[in-house]
Amino acid sequence: MDYSIISKIQKAKEYAEDPSRVTFNSLEIEFRGNNNTYRVTLGPDGWQCTCPGFQTYGICPHIMTLEKLFTPMLKRERLPYAPGQNIVSDVEKANQYAHETDRIRFISFEATFRGGHNTYHVTYHDGKWNCDNPYFQSRGVCSNTMAMEKLLKGMVKPVFLVQESQQSVE
Ligand SMILES: [Zn+2]
Repeated sequence: MDYSIISKIQKAKEYAEDPSRVTFNSLEIEFRGNNNTYRVTLGPDGWQCTCPGFQTYGICPHIMTLEKLFTPMLKRERLPYAPGQNIVSDVEKANQYAHETDRIRFISFEATFRGGHNTYHVTYHDGKWNCDNPYFQSRGVCSNTMAMEKLLKGMVKPVFLVQESQQSVE
């Protein structure tokens, strides 16, 4: 039995209760709206969305949904409402979407994770996780990635515990 993984799982539970440990530096999301699926990105130049509303107003219900869901993980001001935007309808949509997280699928993200003593970098790309935590480097899983998996449940593919089962046989 591998006991070290048990303490990592426990720590991940504690970490997941404090989402402010995570800061998204960039992300790319596939967002299923009512009519179409759009690509939402956050990068050095801020938010972008491929939906028509964003092209016109520079803000849209998809970004508003992500701002609502990930507030403690974004560490940035919300986008201001735009003149002419149908604010009532967009707020209603964002409230509805925030309860339907199966609409949201992460393609990639790059985040910093504040652990107990150090800050780490966690990345996710097409289902592949990475963290610069030494435990992750040897085992392919760590408290940071497990905590993020909990926080983004259903929106990311889980980290598999392949390395763990291999090492416990040794
Ligand atoms: Zn949009």
